[in-house]
Amino acid sequence: MRSEIGNAIQEAQFSDVGNPRNGAGIVGTEIMILPGTVWLVGAGPGDPDLLTRKAAGLIAAADIVFHDALVGRAVLELISADADRVSVGKRSGRHSQDQRTIGRLVTDAARAGKRVVRLKGGDPSIFGRASEEIDACHSAGIPVRICPGVTAASAAAADLGVSLTLRGLARRLTFVTAHVKSGSVPEVDWAGLADPQATLAVYMGKAAAPHVSAGLIAAGLSPDTPVALVENASLPGRLGLITRLDLLPLAAKSAFRAGPAVILIGEALRKAASTHAVMPCEMSYAGE
Ligand code: SAH
Repeated sequence: MRSEIGNAIQEAQFSDVGNPRNGAGIVGTEIMILPGTVWLVGAGPGDPDLLTRKAAGLIAAADIVFHDALVGRAVLELISADADRVSVGKRSGRHSQDQRTIGRLVTDAARAGKRVVRLKGGDPSIFGRASEEIDACHSAGIPVRICPGVTAASAAAADLGVSLTLRGLARRLTFVTAHVKSGSVPEVDWAGLADPQATLAVYMGKAAAPHVSAGLIAAGLSPDTPVALVENASLPGRLGLITRLDLLPLAAKSAFRAGPAVILIGEALRKAASTHAVMPCEMSYAGE
């Protein structure tokens, strides 16, 4: 019995990130990165004040920073003037090749003894392709650590002044990507997502907004389910729009500009209509 349990459970081994002999970490108030180490760092949604202290310290301590296109300009200003700054923003449709290249660039820099920061928008572990880069580091025998960040859905909810979960009404919070190559339909299990007691945070959903709306309604979610679209969450040019599920395609078409946007769906968003005044930005309404 005992050995059966022993076989079924594997203890997670946490690296002691506080110990500099183990590769990287915080020593007193100083953040340090040992040469030859890679940190995947969450840059948050764009507002530099939403960076963690740890992220800010790691960015400042890096010899080289590889960053995504979505990382805010003000965050990039924290990179040391002596450090190299490399944009590895990906063009859609060329992901896998680019991902391999990024993995190689990052591991080559670490192998050359640099302190490497790989800066990713939001939280690296949410639709951030962190896994591919962790694997690349593991294969190359390079120590790799993660510093979490504020994800876009959290920033959008904060801008709207609402909670993503709601006792008794929104018991589940789901992050889903509806990324589609232009002209195709996202492969999403709408039936599994059409839960009236859940909040859905749709990332990369701009182009897919009509599919999101049609898919969820066909799967049984009420057409008047509240929806909030937030573009450029946390940034000065942010835009918030509150609508309902059946009007989402129309709203998305008229509202979206060039920035990244997250779509929040569910009863928890009903509160956004009454609290939108806290968001000092252009707000419009559809369906009222
Ligand atoms: N790792 C990121 C998500 C990367 S996927 C995170 O945790 O936030 C990129 C998608 O994130 C964008 O298409 C958009 O849906 C969302 N996103 C990122 N930054 C955003 C922002 N400032 N405002 C709204 N949505 C954002």
